[in-house]
Amino acid sequence: MTLTDQSPVDFLKRYYGYDRFRPMQEDIIRSILSGRDTVVLMPTGGGKSVCFQIPALMLPGVTIVVSPLIALMKDQVGALHMNGIQAAFYNSTQTSREQRDIEDDCISGKLKLLYVSPEKLLTESFFSFMRRINISLFAIDEAHCISSWGHDFRPEYTQLNVLKQHFPNVPTVALTATADKLTRQDICQRLGMNDPAVFISSFNRTNLSLQVLPGQNRIQQIIRLLQRKPDTSGIIYCLSRKSTESLAAKLQEKGFNAAFYHAKMDPDDRARTQEAFLRDDVRIMCATIAFGMGIDKSNVRWVIHYNMPKNIESFYQEIGRAGRDGADAQTVLFYSFADVATYKEMLAENSPANLGLQLAKLERMQQYADAHTCRRQILLSYFSEELSEPCGNCDVCRDPRVTFDGTVLAQKALSAIVRTGERVPMNLLIDILRGSRSQQVLQGGYDQIKTYGAGRDLRFEDWRNYLHQLINIGVIEVAYDQHYALRRGILADQVLFGGRKVDLVRPDDAPKPVVEKAKTKTETNRDDLFERLRALRKELADEQNVPPYVIFTDTTLEDMARQRPVTPDTLRNVSGVGERKLQLFGKRFLDEIVGYVRSKVQAGEKPKGSTQLITFDLYNRGMTVDEIAAERQLTTGSIAGHLVQLAKSGYDIDLASMVDPSDRREIEKAIATVGIEEGRLKPVFDHLGGRFDYGKITLVAGLLER
Ligand code: ADP
Ligand code: ZN
Repeated sequence: MTLTDQSPVDFLKRYYGYDRFRPMQEDIIRSILSGRDTVVLMPTGGGKSVCFQIPALMLPGVTIVVSPLIALMKDQVGALHMNGIQAAFYNSTQTSREQRDIEDDCISGKLKLLYVSPEKLLTESFFSFMRRINISLFAIDEAHCISSWGHDFRPEYTQLNVLKQHFPNVPTVALTATADKLTRQDICQRLGMNDPAVFISSFNRTNLSLQVLPGQNRIQQIIRLLQRKPDTSGIIYCLSRKSTESLAAKLQEKGFNAAFYHAKMDPDDRARTQEAFLRDDVRIMCATIAFGMGIDKSNVRWVIHYNMPKNIESFYQEIGRAGRDGADAQTVLFYSFADVATYKEMLAENSPANLGLQLAKLERMQQYADAHTCRRQILLSYFSEELSEPCGNCDVCRDPRVTFDGTVLAQKALSAIVRTGERVPMNLLIDILRGSRSQQVLQGGYDQIKTYGAGRDLRFEDWRNYLHQLINIGVIEVAYDQHYALRRGILADQVLFGGRKVDLVRPDDAPKPVVEKAKTKTETNRDDLFERLRALRKELADEQNVPPYVIFTDTTLEDMARQRPVTPDTLRNVSGVGERKLQLFGKRFLDEIVGYVRSKVQAGEKPKGSTQLITFDLYNRGMTVDEIAAERQLTTGSIAGHLVQLAKSGYDIDLASMVDPSDRREIEKAIATVGIEEGRLKPVFDHLGGRFDYGKITLVAGLLER
């Protein structure tokens, strides 16, 4: 069979171990295979890689992959090798000997993918090399780097249009996780693409849960959160370098496996810290946003924002680093008005040209954090995508807020603020509203103002909560530079005089510090077998000197723990187990699962996945099929079926010795006469007039198959 007789999905199964394509992947692949220029916009973790890797495998020549991050290339090529795909990267750290080998492998057609940085690609020597080989496809990864609108503009990318000039017949595929329209147009134009097919997939990452928490007592909240997620990897994004360090220190003190990362660190330390995180040696990374660009780690299970990001694009990109493997992941944003104020000050100081735009973006971010409606709907609407139903996987959906008309309440607070000359901080204002006779109130003469005692009916804590809400929505402002005095916010006048209504949430309904809900899907997918498989993965990864997720992703381990395969054939059914990995690691994982299931059986349990093994153990004790069937109260057909399966997978079972040779001949003859369609043995049974039971027939059919 030639390669082209196979369809893309065969390649997906064989090399990646997945049964089906995700939405759009197959259409994208077919577009590329038809020779058309193609643009792919898909969120991080959406599965862009297979979109160009499978065409690379199917097309006759070599695919040149342009990628901006040299560090990532090495990991990507490593991951391809683990899948049994011939790939290499080309860069200036290699010796000329190494480069010559790579060239030879391209010319001989051995290599299917060659990764190269744009700088290297654009050199004369590389061009002359490209002319000597058969190039099937150009794949431009992180294609948004071409756009000066985007956040990581790379000038070299703009010169990539020369590829089209020199190789007009080679199709190009450009891939990015950036969704905005301007960037998309830039990509098509600047690459000189020829009527490209554009595929835009949904940016909804359903496996990411969304949660916003009030910014008080962040560290305690984080500690509680992490205690519920032992041994998982995650990132805590902080605004300042200093806070990455102090937070990491505090977490270490509490016994957590945490480290910090920021741009001002010594480059060696930085590389080492990142590597430790990739390898699961460090679990918790307290980092500035400098961290993440160069990492492809798929088993990041949570992302916490210690501070609110300054716009939704950044937020989306940063939470997008969680759950790339498709398994559930949690994201938490701590929100305090102080963060907003800090940004505003920073912006005012720097007064950039697009100040207005940046402020507007900041405001959108704040609205997200303040929302009492489904957060995912807000997020997606920002990317011009509509989600018709609330998502069910954000804190608002899980714990719907009941709002009430809080206009009068807001007016009382504002009036007190105005009458005290916008000079008093929160606690004192509450005392005034509640008619307290504290020294401060009396000294200030605040018991004389009209709103003194106007809010007696509410508890102190409730007032605090409402004032925080009013601050968050811009009705009240905090003067950080004037001893935290409260003053009128941008919406104050509209609330006081303009008839603007204010919705508030009752304190009981306000977001709980950490949502302690029914167990999430992730947690229920993970039992002690999962933990054992994860430990094994780590061991293998260290042996092979690769990050653990390169061996198998978390989703694959979850599926494995759920299915509990005890034979290579059934292990192949696990999503993410391709042929190469089956060869490399199959035995070790099967041994682990078999060991686990056995230990449960010995403890008197009948765990899932154990039925074949129990049969095998009884067989090893010298029992016949009939005896095992009687002991286990199963039919002889099932028991024989187990033994046939096990024998096929390499278990030491002598099937032939279990049927009398003359019986075997007779049954074989019957099978030859009636045949077995779709595994149905009844016609054979009937043909033999019921003289042989299904156990015997199954054994003989199994022997014939071998
Ligand atoms: P991106 O480059 O878009 O961020 P990747 O190509 O790294 O995403 O894919 C993210 C994860 O999804 C990887 O673990 C990948 O193996 C997995 N994946 C891709 N396609 C499929 C599929 N059809 N079925 C299951 N998993 C898939
Ligand atoms: Zn929701």
